Amino acid sequence: MKNKYEVVVIGGGIIGCSIAYYLAKSQIEVALFEGGQIGMKTTKAAAGMLGAHSESDGDFSLFFPFARSSQLEYNRLKDELYELSGVDIGYRTGGILKLAYTEEDKLNLDLLLKQPTVKWVNHEKVKLMEPGISNDVLGGAYIADDVNVIPTKTCEAFAKSAQVLGASIFENSNVYGIEKNGSNYIVKSAKGNVEAKYIVVATGVYSNNLLQNLGITEKLSPVKGESIIVHHEKPLLQHTLFHDKSYIVPRNNRKLVIGATMIQDDWSDSISLQSVESLIKKAKVLLPSSANWKIDSFTTGLRPTTFDGHPFIGRLPEEERIFIACGHFRNGILLAPATGKMIRDLILNKEVKQEWIDAFRIDRRQTVMV
Ligand SMILES: Cc1cc2nc3c(=O)[nH]c(=O)nc-3n(C[C@H](O)[C@H](O)[C@H](O)COP(=O)(O)OP(=O)(O)OC[C@H]3O[C@@H](n4cnc5c(N)ncnc54)[C@H](O)[C@@H]3O)c2cc1C
Repeated sequence: MKNKYEVVVIGGGIIGCSIAYYLAKSQIEVALFEGGQIGMKTTKAAAGMLGAHSESDGDFSLFFPFARSSQLEYNRLKDELYELSGVDIGYRTGGILKLAYTEEDKLNLDLLLKQPTVKWVNHEKVKLMEPGISNDVLGGAYIADDVNVIPTKTCEAFAKSAQVLGASIFENSNVYGIEKNGSNYIVKSAKGNVEAKYIVVATGVYSNNLLQNLGITEKLSPVKGESIIVHHEKPLLQHTLFHDKSYIVPRNNRKLVIGATMIQDDWSDSISLQSVESLIKKAKVLLPSSANWKIDSFTTGLRPTTFDGHPFIGRLPEEERIFIACGHFRNGILLAPATGKMIRDLILNKEVKQEWIDAFRIDRRQTVMV
């Protein structure tokens, strides 16, 4: 380990690894400090949907353009990361079928269906696409572009590609403090102290101590999510099925993810029988034949959540060279490329859309109240 780097990124989940990748790609000397192992916290629990459309929830003016730019970036990244790292991110086409079982469900899809990249498919077409879907389905919004990836592989690919491009990555290197040192900063880690000109805090839901250390009063809170992983020999599903925030995602590794619970303010990593029961119940509503599937494993993770559901991405108001990138809630895998690029561009003083700076700044709560 050197004693000085241009940029130190703290946190080796999908967000920190993407940031390290884009910085290294721009020939910036970057070191990433991860308290445990790369991608083994919330990132590991994600289903991996790149749901720019399906997660927009009617927010087509702010969330969608940012998310869509990130989703489109993956088209290129999947090959670029493979060439650099040899890691296949498991990019899987097929898209999402957002299903409607009632007229109210159908009405809720109205805004989504106004997007040119989304089309309505009726009952007959849905049954042709996925014959196993329950007979009472009315139809669905089909989003071919909402593909999926394998989160741990994607995170690993970002990290390894960043290393190939010159980044240093330190695992088991918890950062417990940041101090000012003249015009630079000292990062205090379990592996020793290093100096940095710029710092990026990308510690997901675990950011509160460092934020407090930096004098920031905003806090991240967890929304715990539990999922069931199913292993299969022959394909069970071609498309991701999605209804009322529940989903079944077929992956490129002979596994399916049935997810996920949404439990507010639960910091534990346990998985309850009640949650498993509710996931199985919802899966059977989507696809009655799922009752016969064989369970492979269970996962759990904490979605990092901010007061308004949007991430914090940008520089700290009082410290021009400290950046924050956390709070990506249900969409960190989707938003990783756009976040990495935005932080890189801010550090390089390149142009970043003003509406994204305003929407994601950490002091926006005060701005709104003025
Ligand atoms: C059940 C579930 C399903 C999901 N499905 C999807 C999906 O389909 N699509 C999607 O886009 N998103 C999904 N998400 C959301 C996504 O997982 C998160 O938004 C994303 O993983 C957040 O990434 P992160 O890098 O900010 O956090 P993390 O992955 O938690 O990474 C933060 C890292 O920082 C490290 N760290 C913390 N403190 C320190 C410190 N002091 N020093 C050094 N290191 C530190 C931690 O060890 C950790 O590795 C899902 C989440 C859950 C729980």
